[in-house]
Amino acid sequence: MSKFGSWSRFAGRTLAAAAGAHGAPTKLVFVVTKRCHSRCVYCDIWKEKDIPGALDGELSLEEVRSVARANPFLQWIDFTGGEPTDRPDFPEVVRAFATACPDLLLVHFPTNGLATDRINRMVSGLRADLRARLVVTVSVDGPPELNDRLRGVRRDFAHAVATFAAVRSAIGLRNAFIGMTLHAHSGSCGETSAALVERTFTAVNEELARRGAAPIGWEAFHLNVPHLSQHYYGNQAAPAKDGFGGPAHRAEVAAALAYAASRPKMGAGLVERAVERIYRAEAHRYLARGRSRIPCAALQTTAYLSERGEVYPCTIWNKPLGNVRKTGYAMLPLIEAARVAGVRQTITAGKCPNCWTPCEAYPAILAAPLRSVLALLRGPRSEA
Ligand code: SF4
Ligand code: SF4
Repeated sequence: MSKFGSWSRFAGRTLAAAAGAHGAPTKLVFVVTKRCHSRCVYCDIWKEKDIPGALDGELSLEEVRSVARANPFLQWIDFTGGEPTDRPDFPEVVRAFATACPDLLLVHFPTNGLATDRINRMVSGLRADLRARLVVTVSVDGPPELNDRLRGVRRDFAHAVATFAAVRSAIGLRNAFIGMTLHAHSGSCGETSAALVERTFTAVNEELARRGAAPIGWEAFHLNVPHLSQHYYGNQAAPAKDGFGGPAHRAEVAAALAYAASRPKMGAGLVERAVERIYRAEAHRYLARGRSRIPCAALQTTAYLSERGEVYPCTIWNKPLGNVRKTGYAMLPLIEAARVAGVRQTITAGKCPNCWTPCEAYPAILAAPLRSVLALLRGPRSEA
């Protein structure tokens, strides 16, 4: 398959979805493992490895190959965890989909960046034989001392930046990102989220300089709105104390997004910049009103698969739809049954938990071109 042909099919399927057609999803979020050696204070995934039996039942590599063969329509996959690279056969998991999905265009995974050599080895190997674009985001949560406290690992920040530098050398400037989720806030550490963003960006560049590596620009520094998810992160809001998820935290997140938006961006493509601008514009709306104007694409162009083969609409909504182990590893029968049962209507009516995470927001932006253009024209103005 030529790349042009694959992109044409992706555009055609996305436009068909925008017109209301309910075909096979183009994008999957696949949790390859819940193993993780970070100890983040806002996420319970890492605790699972210490609970007897909690990691049992992960899809084996042979089963992953069956999933890939049974769902060859996928064109964009976010492999996630846990820490995806803590699964020793992670490169083979990715290759299983690259082999079985002829129109696969984009492979992305986030990493905690702890095991620099192993991650770099996996990324370099995949880059050598993947036809799809490979994008990697290395996660940090603040400047070094705060980051290390939030992520529960000594020198975590230094490891993450070392990994970012190595991965960027392997896959190129346009494919490596630092991702900062805005967990900390003045209620928890005395500094506003915007001040932390500035300090973190500066600290990343100081650490890169210490290693003799080139600095990053703001275009390589992504901010994420923090979310809650019982079936994924196992975390909870603390709005009563004006903490995580509370009104003061949400206002700070909005201010931090506005601050990052005001920084100069170099080198990013026109489409990428437009999508990022729409994401931020709608993030402001979501933070102020709890809902974006752009309809969610879950169960339309996107789906979520757990490490045990359970299909869900998305990362956030704890609504299991059935297990691929009972359908010959095909997701479509479960997705179609959920559509018939009205799950998609519940989503379009805004009766799901509602969210605006990049995993789900970017495909939603693509599947709603008219509303996205309106959001682009409006820009990230205040909704307060
Ligand atoms: S947020 Fe990510 S890196 Fe942190 S414990 Fe959870 S899975 Fe691991
Ligand atoms: S808007 Fe609802 S269905 Fe869509 S990703 Fe968020 S929680 Fe899931």
